[in-house]
Amino acid sequence: MTVRTRFAPSPTGYLHLGGLRTALYTYLFAKQNNGKFILRIEDTDQEREVEGAVELIYKSLRQAGLDYDEGPDVGGDFGPYIQTQRRDLYMPYAMQLVESGAAYPCFCTKEELQERRDAATQKGEQWKYDKHCLNLSKEEAKRRMASGEPFVIRQNIPLTGTASFEDALYGHVEAPCDTLDDNVLIKADGLPTYNFANVIDDHLMGITHVMRGTEYLSSTPKYNLLYKALGWDAPIYIHLSPVMKDASRKLSKRYGDPSFEDLLAQGYVKDAIINFIALLGWCPDVKKYGDQEFFSMQDLIEAFSLDGLSKSPAIFNTEKLVWFNHEYISKMPFDEYLAMATPWFDKVLKGKISDYRRLAELMHTRTEVFDRVPDMVRFLAELPEYDIDIYTHKKMKTDPEISLKALKLARPALEAIDDFSEDNLKEALMTLAQQNEMKTGQMMWPVRIAISGLASTPGGATEIAYLIGKEETLRRIDKGIEKLS
Ligand code: GLU
Repeated sequence: MTVRTRFAPSPTGYLHLGGLRTALYTYLFAKQNNGKFILRIEDTDQEREVEGAVELIYKSLRQAGLDYDEGPDVGGDFGPYIQTQRRDLYMPYAMQLVESGAAYPCFCTKEELQERRDAATQKGEQWKYDKHCLNLSKEEAKRRMASGEPFVIRQNIPLTGTASFEDALYGHVEAPCDTLDDNVLIKADGLPTYNFANVIDDHLMGITHVMRGTEYLSSTPKYNLLYKALGWDAPIYIHLSPVMKDASRKLSKRYGDPSFEDLLAQGYVKDAIINFIALLGWCPDVKKYGDQEFFSMQDLIEAFSLDGLSKSPAIFNTEKLVWFNHEYISKMPFDEYLAMATPWFDKVLKGKISDYRRLAELMHTRTEVFDRVPDMVRFLAELPEYDIDIYTHKKMKTDPEISLKALKLARPALEAIDDFSEDNLKEALMTLAQQNEMKTGQMMWPVRIAISGLASTPGGATEIAYLIGKEETLRRIDKGIEKLS
């Protein structure tokens, strides 16, 4: 048996992180088993469709490195892979179910349904469809369908007994039939609902393993009834616990939680996101991997296992993601860092600082998330307002008085340097400290404060002075002298 898995998003917006995780696990499982990973677009609920969302799904999956073997824009033997393009394919199966009694056409109008629903609610009853149209004779139903009257096709759930399925993670799941509703399988517009399309398409596309969120756990017994009615084997189901923002709510775009695209735009690196997401609800085998935390995509393909999936919800911990991101950035090749950092430097330094390479050296291991970079380097373009308190540093043995002395000494010494290189700067300032019986820190700290306006900076006095250049350095030293005088 060739393993075939699918990711089946509805094009309702950005790829959210729960969706990305489903896609990732689905991909990993297929690759690990030398199987096929398929993308199917579930767009039968056209009202919820968002323009551009389909293209975004393609783009996001590629950016994430989750290349699908079959899908709308790559083709394959089981297409089309967009459900609205499969529209004519569903009705014959629905009719087959109608013939066998597992489904039936329903002509109830919205108003009629509303009336009966209201009546049930008033009596304090839980409404589910009352099988009203099941009472129509086959002839009448056929006549009305042929006449062009609007109708839907509903699943005919047995009145008694139970419906069930086996989940690879949750085990035996069952529901009493009398709690299940006769869901619509084909809507009045002729398109199938998810409830029907997922069954038909998973079967026709030869899907062997279905991974999806636990929100489908309770309706899967119903889908199993459809498989049985059609005489098909159901796929193996693996329902995945939700990704939560905190103990009480799921991660959701509606509350401003970031999508995959948002994270990329904020300057999280793809590999860090993937590593982090993989561990949200899945744990590598401790015997084999100990407490290993870093996994490349290839590592994940090897390490992934259904046994490691957790049934309890996973909490999205932003700090942990930031930690991963920092680690990945620190370990990336320098030139890659420089290329990624450049647009972020440009936001505040364009035309003001020229040696990005040197700046990148100072920033490389200090960068946690790229969108924090502009704030960290902005002081190079413009001296921030600062309080003279920061000239005081116990360990450096500095205070405003010593600092004023240091700056006054440094001013002419710096002015005298022709080649404003870091080596020359260092040499000049160290010599100056020595000659005046000051500790190195008593010279370096005040100079760094004066030219940065910040208590902590990437790089020290000489690196900063070199980056901003002689003229700006002297201007800032003068400003410091003025402030301290
Ligand atoms: N279209 C469904 C969704 O986006 C997919 C569920 C499934 O994978 O079967 O939630």
